[in-house]
Amino acid sequence: MQKIINYIDGNYCEPLSRKWLDNYNPATGEVYSTIANSNAKDIAKAYEAAKAAFPGWSNTSIEERSKILLKIATLIEKRLLPLAEAEARDNGKPLSLALAVDIPRASSNFRFFGNAITQFASEAHESIGLGTMNFTLRQPLGVVGCISPWNLPLYLFTWKIAPAIAAGNTVVAKPSEVTPMTAFLLGEICTEAGLPKGVLNIVHGTGPSAGQAIVAHPNIKAISFTGGTATGEHIARTAAPMFKKLSLELGGKNPNLIFADCDYDKMLAITVKSSFANQGQICLCGSRIFVEQSIYEKFKKDFITKVEQLKIGDPFDAKTDMGALVSKPHLEKVQSYIALAEKEGGKILSGGKPVKVAGFEKGYYLEPTIIEVYDDQCRVNQEEIFGPVVTIMPFTTEEEALQMANGVKYGLSATLWTADLNRTMRMSKKIEAGIVWVNTWLNRDLRTPFGGMKDSGVGREGGFEALRFFTEAKNVCIKYE
Ligand code: NDP
Repeated sequence: MQKIINYIDGNYCEPLSRKWLDNYNPATGEVYSTIANSNAKDIAKAYEAAKAAFPGWSNTSIEERSKILLKIATLIEKRLLPLAEAEARDNGKPLSLALAVDIPRASSNFRFFGNAITQFASEAHESIGLGTMNFTLRQPLGVVGCISPWNLPLYLFTWKIAPAIAAGNTVVAKPSEVTPMTAFLLGEICTEAGLPKGVLNIVHGTGPSAGQAIVAHPNIKAISFTGGTATGEHIARTAAPMFKKLSLELGGKNPNLIFADCDYDKMLAITVKSSFANQGQICLCGSRIFVEQSIYEKFKKDFITKVEQLKIGDPFDAKTDMGALVSKPHLEKVQSYIALAEKEGGKILSGGKPVKVAGFEKGYYLEPTIIEVYDDQCRVNQEEIFGPVVTIMPFTTEEEALQMANGVKYGLSATLWTADLNRTMRMSKKIEAGIVWVNTWLNRDLRTPFGGMKDSGVGREGGFEALRFFTEAKNVCIKYE
């Protein structure tokens, strides 16, 4: 059975504990590889490698750093199929999705930051009258930690690593123990691209052990974390007394606001995707759908029809729209929310049951589920489920829609469907979310700031925001005569 081992100082190595975790294929429910169960000793070893690499890497020219990042991007592109297959097997997502989204985006992350670093400028301020010239030095932080979740494994892992190393830092990174495979494969790509040893160190293991050791390490200067809000809170508590820089991209419960004046057919097609893409396991999925009363009954009928056409099955079948959920515990968590919805008085309009896929009977499949709710404050409408479950509810006025959209503790993204430009502006200003999509969803330009408000996170990544996060701004003030 294949062993997923650490990549430290440019070499693959077993965990010092010699302990292993099982890695499941969600489509079959079977163990297909084992993962290094690393602990604080492995993190300390990775830190030492990163520390030793820092002086060389931070003094490497921008051109050279950029060249290596672009080479990594090209190598990921060349390995599109094997990487996409690895992602689909590890995560349960349709291979078609990994081929179209996950792996191309991982490559784009390296390409984007390989180019962005060549354009990253700092500011200068001349104080005329005082006779001083200020300029801002933007220096890399040192060794930084990157921790990513299981839903978009290589996509989010590289979203952090690429800007961190582009800016001249060295990295200790941990992917989710639930989906470690593509992060494991990234090591050999980095070696082939000529990334100096120790610049990127990838350590596998559980959150409470390996992840916690990264956050608690006194000399790891910054943590870029994507994951759940409760974990983010724990990380903040651990890191705050050490005054580490923190970027936290956390959970969401995103509203999808549908007005009667929208382009109905386009809205309907995209709403099916924004609800159930990646089995609903995208932090940006629109899991609370609010529809203007005048089109509510029509939308309900059409939405159910379209959703019931989705094909659930083997991630490797090209006709599959939805694969398996990522793990058994996660499937059980999602099912518990469906049961809760019924207890709370919600009405299951479609789905709600596990699916037995022929030949894959032990896989973690679940029907796409639509729940009509009558109170936007009920728990299924307030808590992040992070699976193929959406709630729907009508609204009558713009004010009511806005109140319901903002009536949660989260504030990651929102989608607005309307043809009214004035409403677009009014609502965009008032919606409490880091990202507002209007008449589209998941449209991403990597130059734009990305992140959440309220309990969805702290800080922004993307574009120069990420390069600012991974650098220390130092003002130099020169007096001249
Ligand atoms: P978790 O918070 O459980 O885990 C995220 C990562 O943190 C994993 O690598 C995990 O390791 C690790 N981890 C867990 N505990 C600790 C700890 N004490 N110290 C350090 N690291 C730790 O999230 P999930 O993996 O379940 O991902 C789903 C969540 O991620 C959802 O809430 C989703 O909304 C959010 N998310 C947010 C995004 C955003 O951009 N805002 C994007 C994508 C997802 P391990 O898995 O090995 O336990």
